[in-house]
Amino acid sequence: MKIGIDKLKINTMLTAILRGSNLRYFIFLFFIFAVVTGLTGCVSSDVKPYEEVKTLEGFKPVGIPPGTESSYDINLKMDDKEQFTVDASIEIKNKSKNAWKEIPFYFIPNMFTAQNSPLLEKPAEIEIDKVSLNNNEVTYSLKKDKLTIPLDQEVNPNDSVNVSFLYHFTLPEEGLRFTREGENFYLAQWYPMVPTYREGWNMEEYRFKGETYHTTYSDFRIKYNVPAKYTVATTSDKDETSSKNELKIDQVKEVFVAILKNPYIAERQVGDLKIRVFGMQDKSQLNEEVADFAVEAFDYFQDRIGPYPYKEFDIVLDGMGMEYPGIVTAWSIYNTGGPVRPDSVKRMVAHEIAHQWFYGMINNDPYHDAWLDEGITEFAIKLFYTDFKDQDFTFEQTVKDHEQLTLPVNLSLDQIPVKDRSYYTYQKPREMLGKLFVENGGKKEAEHFLHKYYQLYKYKEVNSEEFVRFLKEYVSIKDESGLREWLQLEKED
Ligand SMILES: [Zn+2]
Repeated sequence: MKIGIDKLKINTMLTAILRGSNLRYFIFLFFIFAVVTGLTGCVSSDVKPYEEVKTLEGFKPVGIPPGTESSYDINLKMDDKEQFTVDASIEIKNKSKNAWKEIPFYFIPNMFTAQNSPLLEKPAEIEIDKVSLNNNEVTYSLKKDKLTIPLDQEVNPNDSVNVSFLYHFTLPEEGLRFTREGENFYLAQWYPMVPTYREGWNMEEYRFKGETYHTTYSDFRIKYNVPAKYTVATTSDKDETSSKNELKIDQVKEVFVAILKNPYIAERQVGDLKIRVFGMQDKSQLNEEVADFAVEAFDYFQDRIGPYPYKEFDIVLDGMGMEYPGIVTAWSIYNTGGPVRPDSVKRMVAHEIAHQWFYGMINNDPYHDAWLDEGITEFAIKLFYTDFKDQDFTFEQTVKDHEQLTLPVNLSLDQIPVKDRSYYTYQKPREMLGKLFVENGGKKEAEHFLHKYYQLYKYKEVNSEEFVRFLKEYVSIKDESGLREWLQLEKED
């Protein structure tokens, strides 16, 4: 019956077109035809996910204040003997309520010297020429990963100081993130990094497992110059692979620099975004596959969580799986297992891509709330794989002795037994969030939740308390007993 009517209308329309006599009649019929066949999208079921998001009227996101505001001006040089020189000038503003008596920095390269990493066969060498405060050379102390400048004159709230550093280093072999692998050089946390300030400086003891450094969004000017034989890829979305460049990078947590010898580069374009995959293992086939896979992952995350606002994203297929803003490394797990299978490399790439949202664009302290970026990233990639592999939206328990692993997920790294760390920070939050959404609207609702989270907290810092406040509001949780099974809801002092 319906078909008969459609055919009749089409015939009438065609007649109208052929006659060219009654335009208004034609437009009216075309409209009817379009509605019936779904051409206008009015009757399409494929509504954009963003449009269905809850408004949460009256709910105000509250970001955690970082207490510091910094802009970095860094000159990086690498010579033919693989020696690096860093000339860094950092403008730091006191955004806290207290006067500062000292300013500490994370100086992580120092963790890889013979003194702090005696087991390394080829440790880093570090030589600090000069540290200055407002252009006057000052004394400092350097212990493990902390470089501290005592202040003769306190820095009051809203005052700024300039601290500059001149130092040289070589990269260790078998370091962690800050390392060289053959003729490739990976510079992670290679400059003095300004910590956050709460009631006091928010710094913890360095650990070789997990991320024990926490920084806030800062602006960078990076000028680099390395021997011409190398290709450089960085956090910047304008780095163009050249061996010399001057980059301005705003609002990022940190800047990573990879200096690579003859990488195989696969490129893809997703709208405005260029994705580059740098293969160091001479496996061009895998590089191309990873590039195609990254396109799928970006398509999904941009469509469901929110736009990725940069023009370029780099994936380096070497070293341990690690996220940095705008660039990631993915190949092995904590440098132990060697190269992993192609499917595992892709899963690792998906994880590091999801981190661009949950770490890169929403900040959290990875020492005190590691589960927030790792667990939510894992939850997001479970959603992606549900789509990508057409899997069921179910969350199975990943460990057998689940009943014995009863700690809450929102503990600091020092409160979680090392052997169970990945369960508590990655798997358990994924499973518990998953179960919550299986009972509350399923996959679509979970995607809307992540989109709303991104929309409300973009470029803010979140802690467990704030995340739970948002989660309870979004899912309308009145009874907290379910949350208490996996989260500690009272603040510990
Ligand atoms: Zn991660």
